[in-house]
Amino acid sequence: MSTQTIPQPAPQLEQLQATLKPCPFCGGRAELRVVTEQTSPEGGFCVAACDLNNTCAVYPSAGGETLAAAAQAWNHRAGIQPGGN
Ligand SMILES: [Zn+2]
Repeated sequence: MSTQTIPQPAPQLEQLQATLKPCPFCGGRAELRVVTEQTSPEGGFCVAACDLNNTCAVYPSAGGETLAAAAQAWNHRAGIQPGGN
């Protein structure tokens, strides 16, 4: 008898991106992306950032170990760092 556990599927990126609030500085769309895959020993790293990095004056971003964490950090504003552009 198999007691194999199926890993929980990660929440869809598009699904989480839809929950992101707009950029607090320019009101533009926020983009969610994976920077480091979770296959690395340190775990993954994901960011939510203003999509308008060419025109946004601040280009803020917020990071987390998972897409959900990055989205939460962005939406809660506490984790937002200004970009270096
Ligand atoms: Zn912006």
